[in-house]
Amino acid sequence: MNMKNISIWKDLKIKKDYSKLNKDIKCDVLIIGGGITGVSTLYHLRDSKVKVVLVEQNKIGQGVTGNSTGKLSYLQNDLINKIRNNNEEDAVCYLKAQIDAIDMLVKTIEKEKIRCDLEEVESILYTNKDDQIKMIKSLENFLRKNEINVNVTNNDIVQSKYMIKSSNTYLFHPIKFLYGLIKNSEDVYENTRIIKIEKSNDYYKCYTNNNIIMCKYVVIASHYPYFILPYLFPLKCYLEKSYLSASKSNYKDLSLISYSNPFVSIRTYKNNLIYLSNSHEIGTRVNDKDNFKELIKKISDLNLTANYLWSNIDIMTGDGMPYIGKIKNNILIGTGYNTWGLANGFLAGKILSDIILNKDNKYIDLFNPKRKIKGILGNIQKNISGYISGITSDTKKCKLCPHAYGKLIYNDIEDTWDCPCHGSRFDKNGKCISGPANKDVDV
Ligand SMILES: Cc1cc2nc3c(=O)[nH]c(=O)nc-3n(C[C@H](O)[C@H](O)[C@H](O)COP(=O)(O)OP(=O)(O)OC[C@H]3O[C@@H](n4cnc5c(N)ncnc54)[C@H](O)[C@@H]3O)c2cc1C
Repeated sequence: MNMKNISIWKDLKIKKDYSKLNKDIKCDVLIIGGGITGVSTLYHLRDSKVKVVLVEQNKIGQGVTGNSTGKLSYLQNDLINKIRNNNEEDAVCYLKAQIDAIDMLVKTIEKEKIRCDLEEVESILYTNKDDQIKMIKSLENFLRKNEINVNVTNNDIVQSKYMIKSSNTYLFHPIKFLYGLIKNSEDVYENTRIIKIEKSNDYYKCYTNNNIIMCKYVVIASHYPYFILPYLFPLKCYLEKSYLSASKSNYKDLSLISYSNPFVSIRTYKNNLIYLSNSHEIGTRVNDKDNFKELIKKISDLNLTANYLWSNIDIMTGDGMPYIGKIKNNILIGTGYNTWGLANGFLAGKILSDIILNKDNKYIDLFNPKRKIKGILGNIQKNISGYISGITSDTKKCKLCPHAYGKLIYNDIEDTWDCPCHGSRFDKNGKCISGPANKDVDV
């Protein structure tokens, strides 16, 4: 089999097409973005009386969701300990939110009979560093105290000094899940990009290149928003990029993740093994080719050859918790999932729909995007250093990102132009495939 430069999930034969918007329309709620956040919001509003429209600039599920590893787990590397370091009570609520979100998502798959290769597997968290053993042990105690069943275990696929496992965790195919959730909604438009949002009395006017959508609520489910105001959102987070491969293998029913840097995440899917490594903050280690080379070396140590290679970027927040809720008037957002956005994105859909429908939801305060967050200065510093490395990086073919004029670097493994400043990506023809940029580039 030849190597493909897309995620294994995107190599999907049965794909549905939704039309491009070609007229001005009115609705109650406009959802911008067809990843897990947007599609889940659409799903949770489905049985209400509000008229909802979802627009996606490319195709459903082809953003971060379609490049993820498709795991649903409580063993989220060092994230829960990071939240505990800020506030133990928040960590307890965050853990409860994960339990509820995974449970709700799995029950929805069953109720809607979604065929997304859902598999219940034990999740494993491990370290091969002495100084991290006590951190995993502390997490283990915390999980037990909060009624999560964890046990010490071993597995020889990775070198490990300490390893724990937990049950009631799952693996699935993220794009099949989205297609199953969206059903045949007539109110979904693909290849439809919002380029401007304007407040006009009680309504918002959302502009595409050719049309206007008038709505009462706007849900920003676009992963990284292209605008800074309201709420200076991009300054309150930073980005992390990782490299992934899928290879034919005989391993079965595996879901492993390392505790902290260097991050490794492994899962099986049918007769494939997915391997993630070389995670770094955007703006550091900008040479994608070297990162892919190191990944290929790591999987060759397991006697595996890559059939798929791809990369992915997620948004990290200062306190480790997502931003879900209202940011200004009737503009809502769901993002900042710290690489754990599948269950959290599904939960975001529920929280956002409850806010719109004026219903109570116990997680509204916990994930309030306007909460006070420590570590913002650190994030701003990361943003600035990422930006500087992006504008000064040495690249021969020089194209500038339309977002903040970082120098785009050609990623010849995935055939994309990538911006090292804020993670915008463009296909080889210059079409914007992920933001914050929201314009194409001439190549
Ligand atoms: C390497 C990696 C592995 C991961 N693995 C896991 C995992 O195993 N489990 C887990 O829980 N989480 C995982 N995550 C995190 C998770 O994948 C993400 O947090 C989540 O998918 C984000 O979903 P989203 O809907 O916010 O974004 P997206 O899926 O990116 O959706 C946003 C959509 O908005 C569209 N859009 C953007 N701008 C516009 C616009 N102006 N107009 C119209 N549309 C627009 C985009 O095209 C995109 O399709 C992983 C992340 C990374 C980086």
